[in-house]
Amino acid sequence: MTHSLIQRAAKDIFQSRKTVAFTGAGISVESGIPAFRGGQGLWERYDPDEYAHIDAFHVNPGKVWLMLREMFALIMTAKPNPAHLGLAELERMGFLSSVITQNVDGLHQAAGNTNVIEYHGSHNTLSCLRCSTKVKGSSLTLSDLPARCPNCSSLLKPDVVFFGEAIPWRAQLLSSSESQSCTVMLVIGTSAIVYPAASIPITAKERGATVIEINKEPTSITGDISDYLIEGSAGEIIPAIVEEVRKLV
Ligand code: NAD
Ligand code: ZN
Repeated sequence: MTHSLIQRAAKDIFQSRKTVAFTGAGISVESGIPAFRGGQGLWERYDPDEYAHIDAFHVNPGKVWLMLREMFALIMTAKPNPAHLGLAELERMGFLSSVITQNVDGLHQAAGNTNVIEYHGSHNTLSCLRCSTKVKGSSLTLSDLPARCPNCSSLLKPDVVFFGEAIPWRAQLLSSSESQSCTVMLVIGTSAIVYPAASIPITAKERGATVIEINKEPTSITGDISDYLIEGSAGEIIPAIVEEVRKLV
């Protein structure tokens, strides 16, 4: 069953004029970064609804930094897994146009993808909400955290999109154009319930794209928006698809 779906996906990608990947936290689970859903790791101790909301940061940034510090520690040491590497290989082979990611871990770029749209921002920069000073994430080590503004000493906020914050306009614009123009969209490791990100596969579907899901379990878009689901771990399925595409070349 899974093998024939992998072959079907490879054929769809091979024949597609433009393929785009849309990824969520699930693709980084095999790199040791837990997803929100499933309540693993640090999310057992930090409820995302509470700690990842911008109001929580305004009220008590020190409390939110307890979670952020652990997230930074994970991200600083995490390495791309076979799913990230497979997507980078698909790009090199000329079969992947871009990756729209909800993740803030930088692992798609680390794997080698060159056209990554970070829909929910990243840890590359941190901003002071009081005086707007920006600091590069790469200039910080764990011992500098929680990071303070060099200008006014307020606690900095990483430029990741918290619940209650707007999507960066450039990412919004690029992802909307990519989802409108693709003919195949791979939806990988996302529960597709966090809006407005979840509208991306819907847009692709409305514009006639074939929507292929890769997930450990069915999601809210399975069978409705997605044409088919390849059930299993992204780290196994994506390299298998890449191998099948290679056979078609
Ligand atoms: P989610 O936590 O809502 O859902 C994760 C999905 O991945 C689930 O559907 C689950 O079945 C699936 N999954 C888990 N392990 C998998 C695997 N090995 N292979 C394939 N699928 C797997 O994630 P979401 O939809 O991305 O929404 C969470 C939000 O939290 C996002 O907006 C994201 O920005 C943020 N977040 C990011 C990170 C990160 O940067 N790595 C980590 C946690 C949360
Ligand atoms: Zn400041």
